[in-house]
Amino acid sequence: MKLDHIAIAVKSIEERLKIWQHVLNLKLEFIKDVPDQKVKVAVLNINGQHIELLEPLEETSTISKFIEKKGEGLHHLCFEVENIESMLLNMKKQGIKLIDEVPKIGASGKKIAFIHPKDMGGVLIELSQK
Ligand code: ZN
Repeated sequence: MKLDHIAIAVKSIEERLKIWQHVLNLKLEFIKDVPDQKVKVAVLNINGQHIELLEPLEETSTISKFIEKKGEGLHHLCFEVENIESMLLNMKKQGIKLIDEVPKIGASGKKIAFIHPKDMGGVLIELSQK
């Protein structure tokens, strides 16, 4: 398993890139809209791992609701795993609350699934498999 990305909810990607891209000097890989998830995403590369800045595209976006409730900040961690189905099954067997029991296809075409923050110390976890 390896850390794939850290996602941060922000009100304005343009505003936050001033720090992440220009002060910390991380390489911006791309910015794109993901309309099905109602977010705009900016992906920055740190030696093969990524920071994703997530900006809501509309008020009904889960990112909007997150920012309303908690303010800007850490949204989720994503771990890349070799076999997402067996990882989900294993976590379920151990009584960990899953958001997605079956993987879905994410914006980048990888299989992804979310684990509920309740059993993970309050941090939303995403699993992904190439
Ligand atoms: Zn993610």
